[in-house]
Parts: sequence; structure tokens; C-alpha cells
Amino acid sequence: MSVTTSVIGFPRIGQNRELKKAIEGYWKGANTLDDVRATAKDLRAKHWKLQQAAGIDLIPSNDFSYYDQMLDTAILLGAVPQRYKDLGLNEEDTLFAIARGYQGEKGDVTAQPMKKWFTTNYHYLVPEITDETTIALNGTKPFDEYVEAKELGIDTKPVLIGPYTFLKFARGFDGEDLNLTDKLIADTAKAYAEALTKFNELGAKWVQFDEPYLVFDKEEGDLDLFSTLYKTILAAKNDVKVLLQTYFGHIADSYATALDLGFDGIGLDLIEGKDENLAAVEQYGAPEGVTLFAGVINGRNIWRNDYAVSLGVIDALKTKVANVAVSTADSLLHVPFSTEGEDKLAPEVLKHFAFAVEKLDEVRQVADLVDADDAARADSETLKANQALFDGTRVAADPAVAARVAALSDDEYVRQPARAERQAIQKDELGLPLLPTTTIGSFPQTREVRSTRAKFRKGEISQAEYDEFIGKQIEDVLHHQEEIGLDVLVHGEFERNDMVEYFGQNLNGFLFTKNAWVQSYGTRCVKPPVVWGDVSRANPITVKWSSYAQSKTEHVVKGMLTGPVTILNWSWPREDITHKEQTTQLALAIRDEVLDLEAAGIKVIQIDEAALREKLPVRRSDWHVKYLDWAVPAFRLVHSGVKPGTQIHTHMCYSEFNDIIRDIDAMDADVISFEASRGDLVVLDAIHDANFETEAGPGVYDIHSPRIPSEEEIVDRIHEILKKMDVNKVWINPDCGLKTRGNAETWPSLEHLVAAAKKVRAEL
Ligand code: GLN
Ligand code: ZN
Repeated sequence: MSVTTSVIGFPRIGQNRELKKAIEGYWKGANTLDDVRATAKDLRAKHWKLQQAAGIDLIPSNDFSYYDQMLDTAILLGAVPQRYKDLGLNEEDTLFAIARGYQGEKGDVTAQPMKKWFTTNYHYLVPEITDETTIALNGTKPFDEYVEAKELGIDTKPVLIGPYTFLKFARGFDGEDLNLTDKLIADTAKAYAEALTKFNELGAKWVQFDEPYLVFDKEEGDLDLFSTLYKTILAAKNDVKVLLQTYFGHIADSYATALDLGFDGIGLDLIEGKDENLAAVEQYGAPEGVTLFAGVINGRNIWRNDYAVSLGVIDALKTKVANVAVSTADSLLHVPFSTEGEDKLAPEVLKHFAFAVEKLDEVRQVADLVDADDAARADSETLKANQALFDGTRVAADPAVAARVAALSDDEYVRQPARAERQAIQKDELGLPLLPTTTIGSFPQTREVRSTRAKFRKGEISQAEYDEFIGKQIEDVLHHQEEIGLDVLVHGEFERNDMVEYFGQNLNGFLFTKNAWVQSYGTRCVKPPVVWGDVSRANPITVKWSSYAQSKTEHVVKGMLTGPVTILNWSWPREDITHKEQTTQLALAIRDEVLDLEAAGIKVIQIDEAALREKLPVRRSDWHVKYLDWAVPAFRLVHSGVKPGTQIHTHMCYSEFNDIIRDIDAMDADVISFEASRGDLVVLDAIHDANFETEAGPGVYDIHSPRIPSEEEIVDRIHEILKKMDVNKVWINPDCGLKTRGNAETWPSLEHLVAAAKKVRAEL
């Protein structure tokens, strides 16, 4: 029998984002719920069949989702807060109301908070469990999808987010800590045990419980919780085999516990948690009946797998354990669908890429080579072809970039004078009121904006026509901002398709795909560019439109850049040089742009580091040595050359940085804006307790939801902020860019924001 192959999860948005289009069409009223259901069903069937055709043995089901698998789990377990049930909507609309908020005939509720999923750019909805919640098996989605596949002749491996990860991510109302009672633990275990019984009845052979939370550092009681839950659950398994699936790091501190509990399979990430996971297996082995699922095919990057490396890892495992299966290292949800159709990339380039569909073949090919002896491997054409990809250098280095990096001195990482002194100078020079109002940069990208950009890209309109259009958009949006009374204006970012791709297009060393979309949250997808070679700035990028905007108004216009860490984190990074090296190259390129903007008369420059927190290693002991120690200096390198009076802003998505608050301060920006309106207010305490020096604008309303906040709501929020922060350091802004919103909700929201700021100012 050949080696078993397993896939942890597959992209669900569709090869051409069919699911996105169907759902968004439904939201706009252009199609029906039945259309959405039919599209979803087609996609599931297509994805299962692709995996079957590729020779995957354990094909996941219930990895499909309309919005988010964590939200599905919450709904399955009955963790739907009453305020959403009270809307009286159907099943799908209730799901969408939790995810996006609802404002209409049936009520007015905000969306549940959303957070980043580990170190990815995917976001999950935070389950809310209060004393009113009763956890119980409440839905049929995983069973329905198992049966649906079976009707197609495919016996899948159902996937559920496991109870430990679910409970560890759950929060109480409004972000409060979860009240983890014995009853809650018992009810949760019972619900999962029932699910297992049900799968057993349906004839499933394997069930996969995703427990990625195990890769985090353990707090007191964590392993007890894990054991308590699974003792109950595993007692219910009968014939069905249970796979404990982990990913995004290692479980060296819980591997022995997992063995004791009696799982039939343990899935280990042998990319991100490789050394520690291998050491754990070396130390504890695995009993006869346990299969180790070796996660060797990277679901986090787009490069071809190096089979020699994967086989080396598996060969090492096989000296310790009898049963090894070959698996992806995590869900393929985080890579694009297929390289098929990427005809703009030369074959010589494209042959280095493997997206989800191509990775299926990699899983199968590696598995086929596992049992081959040395002679057979030496003869294998597959292995030879793979090896050829890794022989020699893929790209030639750029000596100019290397020389510039080598010549960097420590001084270039430090801005002078010290921040407090600069802040005083800036107050003087900019003449802004207390509680200055601003936005994060982008304004709604209407259909007209997007289609004009597309026409220009396709050569259907001339540069002059395009420039006239963009110029007009900028003038309109400036005028509108002046009219409603915002203090620091922005040009609106109409010329940008995406905050990373736009920069990448003007940098040497980047490549672009046509269709390599990955899900970010809900129906939102991103298309990261590819770092192919050494990076440098090809030409000034933003100077033209920023200085145009500044020339059209008396108010200060904020220049708008994307920072080096975010550009790297939202691109597909190279694997042949370190992230630190790539980020330093990017920092120098953006530094050139900052200095050009300043020379062009731009007084306020925002350098977005929306994704800084995203790549913080999962284990705290790695945070500084493996990441912050170079990421924070890279940001300083970008802005250290400006004059004291030039105000440097930064923006970060999500407020979960209370635990790295000092590192954020060490970026040495003058002002930071961040998303806090949808999460909890913990970060305000952190700002307070850390004596945070950077001026800050904790977002006062949630732009991810179409609902319009009232003036009173924003006033309340500002009051909350002022309880924790020095009024001289507070900025008033929405919590992120407005480009995904419509004008209809944006302008009233901003009017309420300005009115609220004025009202609170008057109270001071
Ligand atoms: N300046 C960007 C914008 O406003 C920031 C986007 C982001 O943080 N994701 O769109
Ligand atoms: Zn943001």
C-alpha cells in the first residue's frame, strides 16, 4: 500500500472567486440566496474532485465556508448572541449579520470582532460566549457536507476547528475574558463527542480536529483543559479515527500529552515548527497505532517544494515511527488556487511556483517517493526534475543594492531630535486643533474609479485622460473633506489598486500575477505580489499625486506610503534570502520616497505598517530575536532622514498590540492610528500603562461594516479614549482606510466623526 496523503484544507473562494461574486451579488440584491447555495455546492464538488484526481487520500470536507470557519464553528455550537437571533433572519442572513453587522428594518447591530488568524493575513470572527450561551451541537453543516461528498462518491475527512482552539479564541461580550466554567468545558466536550458519534454513524473513517492553538506558548491550565476536553471526546469515537491537526508552529510542549490521550493521528507542521517538532518525535516516538501526518508541503508560500528536503524530513521521522502520512503543513486556504492561466509570467519563472492545485501533486509525488529505495529515487524523473529547480541560482543579485545595505551605519536607524522635541515643533508648524481629525488614506473606490483604472491598464484611455480623471477625483475628495471640516486631508488613493501592489509595481525585483487571489476576510481577497529578486526603487512613486493634492488646498495633505514590513508581509517573500534582508532592501527603497515627498513640500507623511503585528512569531520567546529586532529598525530606517518638523504617521490594522506596545513606540513615529473600534479597549490601558509617547488615533468607528455610527456613539467613544489618554496626544479617525466602503455611508459617518470631535473639544 502506498503512503497515505492528506490535505488539511483547500481554498473555497473559487478559481475565479466565484463565491465572492455570488455572495457580494446577493448582498447587493443582484442574485438570490439560492444562487449563492448553488455556487457553493458547485465549488465544493469541483474542489473535492480535483483533490481526488490528484490522488489525495484524505480529502477535507467542512473546510468550505461562506465567510469564516470559526464563525461556522460558533454557529454549529450554538454560540450565536441573542441580539443576532432577535433580528429574526434566516440562517445565512444571520451568519452575514454576525460577520458584517446589520442595519435595516429588523434592527441595528454591529458585527462581531474580527482578528488575524495566527501569522496569516486571514481573519477569523471572534466567538462570543457569555453566561447566557449554552454550548450544544446545534447545526448540521459538517454532516451535510460529508454526505454531499459521499453522494459524489468521495469519502472525505470532515474537518472541525477543535474545542481547545475554539474555547481559547472565544471571548465574552465586548472582548471581555471568557468565563471558562466547568459547565462550559463539559458542554463543549459533549457537543464534539456528539459530532464524533454522528460522523461514526455516517461512516467517516477519519475526522480532523484542527488545534493550531497548541502552537502558542502555554498558560497555566492550558494542557489540563486540552486533556479534559479530549478525554471525553475520544471516548466517543468508536470506529472513526481522530486526527489531531496542528499547524503554524511546533507542539513540542504538548506532543507527549497528545500521545497519552490516544489520538489515531497527529499532524505536525514540519515547515514552521520543523526542528522542535522533529525533536519531540525523536524524544517520544509514537506507538504502533498512531499515524504521524508529516506536514511538509508549505501552505504559506507559493514556491515549489524541494523534494530532497521533504524526503529527508520524512526519512528521519520513519526511523522513529512506523506510520507516516504525507500532508500539507497547513490549510491551502492561504495560497492561491492554481498557476493555470498565469500566462504573463515566463515559463522559466512560473515553473518555480506551486499554488493550491499544484501543491496537491506535490503531496502525491512526495508520498510516492517516500517508499522508493535509494536506487529508485536515483532513477526518478520526478525527483530529477524537482532537483533541477533548486540547482544553481534562481536570480542574479543586484550589486548596487548589496553595496547600499552593506554601507548602512547605526545612525541611519535613529531619527533626530528626540520625539518629544519634534512633537513640540510640529504642533507649532502644523497649527492643528486639539483632537485633530483625519482619515487613514483611501476613500471609496467607486465602480467608476475601478473601471477607469482598468481602462488605463488595458490601454483603452491615454495617460492624459487617466491623469485628468484621477486629478478630478482628488480635487473632489479634497473639496468634500474641506467642506465637512476634517483637519488633515488625504488625496484618497484613487490611483492605487492595492496598497502593496501599487508600490511593488514601481520597485525593481517584484513580479505580479493575474489571478493569484487569497482570502483575507469574508469575501475580501488579496493578490500579493511576488518578491523575485533584489529590491530597489525604480522611480518616484507617490510624489506626483501627493504634491498635486497639496497644491489644491490650504490644509495639510498627508502623504501616503506603505512600509517595508507590510510590503514584505503582504507579498510572497523569497525563500533564498532572509526576511530581514528583504525588508532592509524595501526600507531603503521607501526611504528614498519619503525624502522625495518631503522635498516636494509634504509636511505629514503616513507610512502604513498595517501588517506589522501579523508576522509576530507564535512563540513569545521568538518575538524579538526572530522578528522585532529587525522589523522595528527597518521602519526607523525609512523615516530617520526627515526634518524635525515633518510629521511621520503610521497606521496598523487591529489593536492587538498591547503586548508589544513598547516596540510600537520604538518605531519612533510621531503619530499612530489603529483599529480598535471593533476589538476591545485593552490597548488603551496598555497605552496608558506604558506611558506611550507616540500620539495616537484609536479608530472611533468600524469601517469594515456598512453601518453608519451616530455622533453620540462617537462622542462616547472619544470619552472612553480620553479616560485613558492625554488629550494632547489623541487623534480622531476611522479605524482603517475607506476604499471598500461606499460614499453613501462614508460621508455621513465622517460628518458624525467631525461633529463628535468638535463637541468634545468644546467640553475641554
Ligand atoms: N492607507 C491605506 C488605506 O487607507 C491603509 C489600508 C490598511 O491599513 N489596510 O487604504
Ligand atoms: Zn488598516
